[in-house]
Amino acid sequence: MTNRIIKRLPLSALILAVFSSGSVLAGNHWDSVEVQTVPVRDGLYMLMGEGGNIGVSVGEDGTFIIDDQYAEMTDKISSALGAVSGSTPRFLVNTHWHGDHAGGNENFGKKGSIIVAHENVREALKVEKSIPAFNMVKPPSPKEALPLITYQREMSLHLNGDDLRLYHVANAHTDGDSIVHFSKANVLHTGDVFFNGFYPFIDTASGGSIAGMIAASKKLLDLADENTRIMPGHGPLASKAELQAYHDMLVTAEANIAALKKAGKSVEDVVAAKPTAGLDGEWGDGFLQPDVWVSIVYAGMKD
Ligand SMILES: [Zn+2]
Repeated sequence: MTNRIIKRLPLSALILAVFSSGSVLAGNHWDSVEVQTVPVRDGLYMLMGEGGNIGVSVGEDGTFIIDDQYAEMTDKISSALGAVSGSTPRFLVNTHWHGDHAGGNENFGKKGSIIVAHENVREALKVEKSIPAFNMVKPPSPKEALPLITYQREMSLHLNGDDLRLYHVANAHTDGDSIVHFSKANVLHTGDVFFNGFYPFIDTASGGSIAGMIAASKKLLDLADENTRIMPGHGPLASKAELQAYHDMLVTAEANIAALKKAGKSVEDVVAAKPTAGLDGEWGDGFLQPDVWVSIVYAGMKD
């Protein structure tokens, strides 16, 4: 698959996110989606289907996954887990509440998976939530879809011979983001604080901000070395160098946009000034066009 096609995958993910369940799409859409299983390291895999990338650990303590895409993907995800000797996940982490990452919660919850997330994810799932930027509304989620275990700052899971560390990164993609570090395997799952190769969506209505995205990507860089394998929320498996390039892009974009905002420019004027022109060739061909992305960044910036 060419890099260009990989970059374009999240487009369909976003369109699905706009419609809360995806059910408005023709049924055969889901039939055509294939789950790609990317080996990451011994017992660790990344599943790419429709929605956010899923992290998988399979081993003596059972199956553990990070994110679960859409409800319509549950059967295909379960088949992919079976193909790598996995089974119904014993634990399931949600990196945040968005439907392309937590849409399978109810299905997996009913199968007995214990859902783990930052406490703000549980709160977001319990109520109606919207993403005004995309006219998306998510109804309150049923009990089975809610995390049974929540945390505030950090927590650890000891599974399959590894020590996993969950860190909350504040006000980044949302107000409830988790990143996951497999400390022995030297593998990270970033959730949506890292889109590998294109401008990231920032959910400012849920407390996200570019300042938080920069801090979160810095935290990931601090945890990584040259051998770290990084599962991004969207896009292909990444190296530290790719994460560094993404972090540097965010820093440049924030500086350019903040300078105009501080000078009192309106969002329209800032967009018209093309403050990311030097970055758009590299980062602007994903699912967010540069003008839209600049307005999202502006909206999440403190005055
Ligand atoms: Zn998201």
